[in-house]
Amino acid sequence: MSDKDIFRFAPSPNGALHLGHAYSALLNRQMADKAHGTMLLRLEDIDTTRCTTEYEMQMLQDLHWLGIQWSEPVRRQSAHFDDYRQALDRLQAMQLLYPAFLTRGDIRKFVAAREGAGFQWPRDPDGAPHYPGVERQYSTGQRQDLIGSGKPFAWRLDVKKACAMADDPIFWEELGRGPIGQTGRIKAEPSIWGDVILARKDVPTSYHLSVVVDDALQGVSDIVRGHDLFHATSMHRLLQCLLELPTPRYHHHRLLQDGFGRKLSKSDGDTSIRQLRARGLSADDVLALCESSQTI
Ligand code: GLU
Repeated sequence: MSDKDIFRFAPSPNGALHLGHAYSALLNRQMADKAHGTMLLRLEDIDTTRCTTEYEMQMLQDLHWLGIQWSEPVRRQSAHFDDYRQALDRLQAMQLLYPAFLTRGDIRKFVAAREGAGFQWPRDPDGAPHYPGVERQYSTGQRQDLIGSGKPFAWRLDVKKACAMADDPIFWEELGRGPIGQTGRIKAEPSIWGDVILARKDVPTSYHLSVVVDDALQGVSDIVRGHDLFHATSMHRLLQCLLELPTPRYHHHRLLQDGFGRKLSKSDGDTSIRQLRARGLSADDVLALCESSQTI
């Protein structure tokens, strides 16, 4: 593995590249240049229904148009399901996973019943209720019977057990800032996520699992991304500990907002690079827009 600093820009090709992406890609490029390092491009396309080759082609074209360069080869996650499977097998051998059968509707009902009875149900940083984990206690036989019945299931991490098995406490080095200014040595709190999905019902991996596997396989030393993923780092650090993967440095940057103070999104066509280009902005104009909001 190279001893150069390795950065990566890792968009999901499930919509148009917008100004927020351009900002993140540019920041990665600038930081890699400053460190005389490398910047990789990774397409996080495990969701094979929402990610399309059309969006992917557009993203690559938009990045080219902006003049943001990366080192080849581009890694497409959908071509590496075997790598994620190996990591999943390892966690399975450590008995940290269980098959989870509840549908979204089941979870909603379960949580509504608890909350209706006056209990406060924990929610993750994105506001989703923690998985009830009813299958955690099932015997191997019960699990096998359910799997054998053909009912769709996801593999979930038993986060409490996982935390007990990993180093305690776990930290990361934050060179940027979290949503409320967190910086420096940050203590990971993976249990805020509850029992996350590591392999989905329809896809043999998940965002959390594939991102840590890829960052390690690609030798990424510096992760520069939006602070909407700041809390996800807690889960990534736990998985890195369990899988004995190296710890990258993290730099979360602020998110560009629209005129209403909302985070830019892929559905917000106005700030897509294509739209800006169609409105007559040059690549330099777009990069200047990114630069002008570049307080990191
Ligand atoms: N694919 C993720 C996204 O587009 C970014 C993942 C990461 O940088 O860790 O939001």
